[in-house]
Amino acid sequence: MGSCHETGPKLIRCKAAVCRVPGEPLVFEEVVVAPPKAFEVRIKVICTSLCHTDVSYWRSKEFASSILGHETVGIVESVGEGAEEVAVGDKVVPMFQPNCRKCGPCRSEKNNLCDAVQARSFGMPRDGTSRITDAAGASLTNLFGISSFSEYTVVDVASIVKVDPKMPPDRVCPLSCGISTGLGAAWRVADVEAGSSVVIFGLGAVGLAVAEGARLRGAAKIIGVDLNPNKILIGKKFGITDFINPKEIGEKPVNEIVKELTNCGADYSFECIGLTSTMNEAFRSSKNGGKTIILGLDVQGSLCINTQELLFGKTIVGSILGGTKVKVDIPIFIKKYLDKELQLDEFITHQIGFDEINKAFDLLNAGECIRCIIWMDK
Ligand code: NAD
Ligand code: ZN
Repeated sequence: MGSCHETGPKLIRCKAAVCRVPGEPLVFEEVVVAPPKAFEVRIKVICTSLCHTDVSYWRSKEFASSILGHETVGIVESVGEGAEEVAVGDKVVPMFQPNCRKCGPCRSEKNNLCDAVQARSFGMPRDGTSRITDAAGASLTNLFGISSFSEYTVVDVASIVKVDPKMPPDRVCPLSCGISTGLGAAWRVADVEAGSSVVIFGLGAVGLAVAEGARLRGAAKIIGVDLNPNKILIGKKFGITDFINPKEIGEKPVNEIVKELTNCGADYSFECIGLTSTMNEAFRSSKNGGKTIILGLDVQGSLCINTQELLFGKTIVGSILGGTKVKVDIPIFIKKYLDKELQLDEFITHQIGFDEINKAFDLLNAGECIRCIIWMDK
């Protein structure tokens, strides 16, 4: 372990929670984590959390024999050639969207999709392979080049952000995906302004982070739509002013209620669930000239849009990580938290040990938690 020079980093044997059968509990196995290649960094995972995207992929047969997990924070254990922007011992947050800072999209203010180091669902961004094998030597599918449900993992240097050591690991962990997606969507994609109206479909970590972003921008009305009545209380902490439960409104479509609560529709409409039905409803809830932002992942989905509505200036856009430019924005989010401007504590509803990781799936699926922190050493 340690420096990559002279003898170089060795293989590491450690514990990982492996998805063997889609939709079945993860299985603990000893795995072998290869040393970092060029432009890669091996990290010791401190903690990880469960995002709904992990759950969607956990159910997909493409992820049989995989290591899931992409919200995490860790300590750099060894550094590959060309990855010296971080050093052994640094606290870092891996992000599934790389940010090389040199290519056209990285230099553009309007695009966060690095094209020099491209994000992938499977494998390391530069070559699509995995650095983790099982005890029999078979390669385990790597999610997003992160695979954080392992005590050690390897990530690309373009995908990691060095973290202020003062930042508590459990508070920074969900910034690795869900919370940054919501904040970025409110600030970068929508650019919500004071006095505007916002509707958010789905009040998980992503949707509540949109609310937090809209609250901090001074939005006048922030309408939350969720089937789970428990989201009313937590939503209020993030500035939700009105709550719609689609189960409690009879035959009336949600968009009609949004139009009644706003001046003929919301200025900004966010879909944070991952269903084409709620994406359509989000679009219908936006006013003429309004913007709909799709953040939810629907693995099979396709949308049918009324093109006349487009003529009235309505726009619809999707976004990876809410347009967050990770090396620029994550340090800003962290500073806002340390300055007590941004609320992060309220997102962390549960804390468990690595051995209990399957409980995190039960909690998220039951709608009982926003983010569950899974500590590797507990
Ligand atoms: P979550 O499971 O914590 O929250 C989803 C919320 O939606 C829950 O509160 C649930 O009660 C509610 N809900 C479910 N079905 C509903 C319905 N039909 N009507 C109203 N409410 C409904 O999920 P999360 O971790 O916040 O993720 C939300 C979505 O965002 C997922 O699809 C996830 O894959 C996606 N995501 C996308 C990005 C990105 O880069 N675009 C990043 C992170 C997550
Ligand atoms: Zn995620």
